[in-house]
Amino acid sequence: MREKILEMEEYAQERNVPIIEKKSIAFIMKYIKEHNVKNILEIGTAIGYSAILMASCKEDVYVTTIERDEERYMEALKNIKACGMDKKINVVFQDALDVNISADIKYDLIFIDAAKAQNTKFFEKYKYFLSDNGAIITDNLKFHGYVDNPEEIESKNLRSLVDKIKEYIEFLKNNQEFKTTFYDVGDGLSVSTWKDEK
Ligand code: SAH
Ligand code: MG
Repeated sequence: MREKILEMEEYAQERNVPIIEKKSIAFIMKYIKEHNVKNILEIGTAIGYSAILMASCKEDVYVTTIERDEERYMEALKNIKACGMDKKINVVFQDALDVNISADIKYDLIFIDAAKAQNTKFFEKYKYFLSDNGAIITDNLKFHGYVDNPEEIESKNLRSLVDKIKEYIEFLKNNQEFKTTFYDVGDGLSVSTWKDEK
């Protein structure tokens, strides 16, 4: 599996697939082990890199992951099979905002790592599927440093994306239901958990 992981890192680099930074996935894997996470929902599979690493943490970790891009979805299926993870990872080929997931499953970890402008929508849609002790982790809150250095941004689209990420950060900070801790790890991560004991 290690070789396949290296191959995926190369593939991502060559094709500009934005897979998670090593420090960030190490942080998440540690979180999974320390909090006895079993069921994971990931929004944004890309080629399956983070899903495979999360599923490899412990024997009893299962991942459902959602991807809307067909080429990446196909690549993810291939990689997951090659790593022997197809019993532990279920890839859903659909836009995450359209998916109807089963209401009787709760996830211990929801990892939001898809279109950054949609973070709030993903959060609001999927919080209902978070277990009582679960956490929602969001990646790329620094967005390659642009969130802290907006003066470096030239394109309008990028500026609007960065504004959306800032809005999301404010949404998390002011949230009545969740408390969020922000981590300066990799491209910036947040961990949100329910405020009230359930
Ligand atoms: N989690 C992956 C990287 C994901 S990159 C890893 O670290 O290995 C973000 C992915 O989210 C892209 O492949 C993109 O196609 C997908 N995506 C973006 N918006 C989406 C949406 N609304 N529904 C499903 N997938 C989405
Ligand atoms: Mg990411």
